[in-house]
Amino acid sequence: MKTFHNPHHAAHAGQQEMFRGRMVPCHEVPARLDFVLAELARRPLGPLGPPSVEDSALDAAIARVHSARYLAFLASAWDDWVAMDPANAQRDALPSVWPLPSRHGFRSDVLPANFAARLGLFSFDSGSPLTAGSWAAARGGAACALAAAQAVVNGERSAFALTRPPGHHAGPDFLGGYCFLNNAAIAAQALRDAGHAKVAVLDVDYHHGNGTQTIFYERADVLTVSIHGDPTTEYPFFLGHADERGAGEGDGFNLNLPLSRGTGFARWRATLDTALQAVHNFGASALVVPMGLDTFEGDPISGFTLQSADYAVVGAALAGAGLPAVFTFEGGYAVDEVGTNTVNLLEGFQQAT
Ligand SMILES: [Zn+2]
Repeated sequence: MKTFHNPHHAAHAGQQEMFRGRMVPCHEVPARLDFVLAELARRPLGPLGPPSVEDSALDAAIARVHSARYLAFLASAWDDWVAMDPANAQRDALPSVWPLPSRHGFRSDVLPANFAARLGLFSFDSGSPLTAGSWAAARGGAACALAAAQAVVNGERSAFALTRPPGHHAGPDFLGGYCFLNNAAIAAQALRDAGHAKVAVLDVDYHHGNGTQTIFYERADVLTVSIHGDPTTEYPFFLGHADERGAGEGDGFNLNLPLSRGTGFARWRATLDTALQAVHNFGASALVVPMGLDTFEGDPISGFTLQSADYAVVGAALAGAGLPAVFTFEGGYAVDEVGTNTVNLLEGFQQAT
């Protein structure tokens, strides 16, 4: 398995996030990726290095899943934030006002000149600090996703985009959930564009992959499946219910499998079989796995009870789909264990292949 790691990831290091009315230290920290790299040094899975992707190819791949308006916002966001107030250079940008969508209500078609309003327009929470290095780190991550997809197109059975910030909560024109660019969607679209007629995305993060769902919701060529904490109690709350099945041509090509907080591995594993059956029925020729390790029992912001050894079983079950696969690194906030759990899953996949 080839691993593409993001050398720019540490440029994105938020100081604090808003959590239930208080500012708390960020959960999504650079050390997460460092622990995975350290474990991969102990238990190598194959070649590991930074991605080599042309800027023009990267821009094109990102623009396939994100709107031009959103990308222009991201590219200048930090400079615009500091231009509001030079003192902002010392603090992260967080939104504090949003255009709540409603009929005859707030408008999102008019681009606000005020950056604080623009930040709210293009985001859905105040837990995702935008920093001086966020754009560079997010672009570096997208390059990892694109390189991983290209490796699979070129015949690799699997490839791993080891990057942060994560991506699966980022939608066509919004950030949130610590995510800016949707790496899994970029990989899935790159696989489509390289000739895979049908691509399945199977999201195993604790949190619903709302961004990926939204990006592909009206499409029949990309199946999106997500196993996650029930959104009636779990983040991102406003999407991820079982009755969201896709729309238009995409009707029937989105499958949400929400599980109650507290769910253990036996039930989770049985649900994975349901997800894999859907992937099989769809007839995909390639698989993208947004891989969150926040299903782990020790995760500080999640509520399933998977154990470290369970991840090897998950990897083997995913290999059973018999498809070439791209893995993207998503959540997982029990930082000390995230390396072990990540490599357990990938090693389980590789050994069962
Ligand atoms: Zn998560």
